[in-house]
Amino acid sequence: MTPIISVANLSKTYGSGFRALNDINLEIRRGEIFALLGPNGAGKTTLISIICGIANLSAGKVTVDGHDINADYRAARSLIGLVPQELHTDAFESVWATVSFSRGLFGKPKNPAHIEKVLKDLSLWDKKDAKIVTLSGGMKRRVMIAKALSHEPQVLFLDEPTAGVDVELRKGMWEVVRALQAKGVTIILTTHYIEEAEEMADRIGVINKGEIILVEDKAGLMQKLGKKRLKLYLQQKVEAIPPALAPYHLELSGSGCELTYNYDTKGERTGITSLLSDLRNAGIRISDLDTSQSSLEDIFVSLVRAP
Ligand code: ATP
Repeated sequence: MTPIISVANLSKTYGSGFRALNDINLEIRRGEIFALLGPNGAGKTTLISIICGIANLSAGKVTVDGHDINADYRAARSLIGLVPQELHTDAFESVWATVSFSRGLFGKPKNPAHIEKVLKDLSLWDKKDAKIVTLSGGMKRRVMIAKALSHEPQVLFLDEPTAGVDVELRKGMWEVVRALQAKGVTIILTTHYIEEAEEMADRIGVINKGEIILVEDKAGLMQKLGKKRLKLYLQQKVEAIPPALAPYHLELSGSGCELTYNYDTKGERTGITSLLSDLRNAGIRISDLDTSQSSLEDIFVSLVRAP
């Protein structure tokens, strides 16, 4: 199937001379939820802005459902809905007026039945006459989504949809996004939340310093995330890891007083029980231990450090 969005050899250099994107190649599959992850300043917003036609590209080509974002701007843009990170809506307008107005911006004829459907899908129907200013933060976010969906786009960009949103609201937002996918909308979201990527995404892309450094199915990435670390604090310093413990690939640190064991939480066996017994047999005594999960941040760091 042809991708709905195709980004080829895309680069962006700002007027200041700063190169924010460097030779990006990325294809978004029709109907998928794609999570774009990256540290602050990685280039996520720049990439989204170019695809949405808000910023100009310096080199390369972007097409949306076959329409070139430059040569065929209106057709390409009309296929996209964008929910920006910041909530900015006209506080004193009603929900109905603001969402209907957004549709008009795309030159689409009035379609009250569609606006009604969007508001119902987002559980905003009973608030249609309420002024935006009177809504809760979660409702305001849903209004932003309703605005982005008002012109019936095929692709929806969500920039940090749940930043600063409490756990319950976040889960509600996930349900909304899933329902949109079920209706055939392709979704691209940026997020810093590991659970969000884990819950939502079919594929995950990592961007760093203006380059896409990884695009992987969620399952593949989560396998990496499934790694845990067991840190063992030793009662006495050891000079070297005894050969009998070689199969565990332990790392010795802390001037010989700490051992680290990496294991896979999703594996059948963690190997911890036999490690502890082999350590005792080797005469190594432990004073304390702790475990930690490798986070997305760890993955970023290891990817960023990679030569
Ligand atoms: P965040 O997670 O913090 O939102 P981001 O990944 O969205 O970050 P961008 O906003 O795309 O990152 O910025 C990428 C880089 O480009 C940053 O170093 C930023 O300072 C720079 N940049 C962004 N806009 C401009 C501009 N108008 N002129 C010059 N440099 C810019």
